Amino acid sequence: MTEAAHHAWGPSSLKQKINCLASDQATRGLPDTDTEAALSGTATHSLVEFCREHDVPAKDYLGKKITVNKVDGSTQEFLVDQARVDSAQTFIDHINGLPGIDFNEQRVRYPEWVPGAFGTLDGARANDGVVYLRDFKDGGMLVFAKDNEQLLGQALGFYRDWGHLFEIEEFDLGIVQPRRDHIDTWRVSLEYVLNWATTVLKLAYERAQGPSPPFTPGEWCTFCKIRGTCAARAQSVFEDVVDQFDDLDDAVAGAAQKKFVAGVLGNEQIAKILPVIPNIKAWCSDIQRYAFAEVRSGRPVGDYKIVEGKLGDRAFIPGAEAKILETAAKIESPDTSVDEVIDMLYEPRKLKGPAQVEKVLGKPLFKPATEKKPAGALHELIVRPPGKPTLVPGDDGRPAMVFDAASAFEEVDDFE
Ligand code: SF4
Repeated sequence: MTEAAHHAWGPSSLKQKINCLASDQATRGLPDTDTEAALSGTATHSLVEFCREHDVPAKDYLGKKITVNKVDGSTQEFLVDQARVDSAQTFIDHINGLPGIDFNEQRVRYPEWVPGAFGTLDGARANDGVVYLRDFKDGGMLVFAKDNEQLLGQALGFYRDWGHLFEIEEFDLGIVQPRRDHIDTWRVSLEYVLNWATTVLKLAYERAQGPSPPFTPGEWCTFCKIRGTCAARAQSVFEDVVDQFDDLDDAVAGAAQKKFVAGVLGNEQIAKILPVIPNIKAWCSDIQRYAFAEVRSGRPVGDYKIVEGKLGDRAFIPGAEAKILETAAKIESPDTSVDEVIDMLYEPRKLKGPAQVEKVLGKPLFKPATEKKPAGALHELIVRPPGKPTLVPGDDGRPAMVFDAASAFEEVDDFE
């Protein structure tokens, strides 16, 4: 019998399973679904795995296509563009910079704590003493290493399967998210991992098998199979909104009389609303995606229907260029020559970005100085604009930006 590709209590599902004990029984037997982002991530993971296995740079596959299997049995192709190459190579370089014996896409198991449980770790380097374990995220929300259930599950499985070969004292757990320019690590003792396995993981699994385990909505709902239809999640989203009104009685009384609460929200209320917005946005998208799939499958959702949306941008058909040039050559104008007309039909020549130019001229020319080597001759030609001001919760690890009074009223560009 072939082993399934995933286990319900595999490392990537642990955050949801541990935090919402009801989700195990509530999703049991339901089919997996694909999202575009997850499929694209799978494509980049397979590029990383291949390049690491065969010790080849990701740029060698620029312009090629990667085929990913979907859960419905069909396939989808993803282009290896420069952004995918850069994301994959950053992870490869990061792992290659770590000491120890290399593990690539290694399956690990921890059935002593959860029956039959297994998962796959993206990359690890193992020495006696410290095991460096890294999870590659090809985009998505920022993820941090501290208390990360996925990394702890992978560390547990690594110890269980490979601990006999290494005198493991500590795990150096890390998330590498190149498209977010984010690498985050957390050092933890083997003792901590084993204690977590018994007091958190094993206990959560046992409680989740009992009668009526509790539903606990939270950020982990995002990857749950019933995220679009879960009543507990729907209730929590509505409560998140209503809870922001200090005087709930007024709000309810106002609603009963078909009146709205008067006044404006103060910054204290805004501070309470901000953390719940990602959950509300994610829930709205999940409801829309679920309804779209239902209507497309012929199951009515009220009187909703699917129509053709806004048309795409106009484009020339293949082969149009020759006919256009032929027509341009016949234009007679006393002020403009045929060559000038033809020039006007084309985009002006434009220098490509640093990544593409590096590819042609060679990376060393653009490298910054290191302890051993001076900077490349063209290093100073590259600048990196500062990141956009982004509003994040106070526990985010990045330092707060400081603004002068003149810029205080500029628009915030991004939210997380
Ligand atoms: S959607 Fe959220 S609350 Fe509902 S079962 Fe899934 S994880 Fe639990």
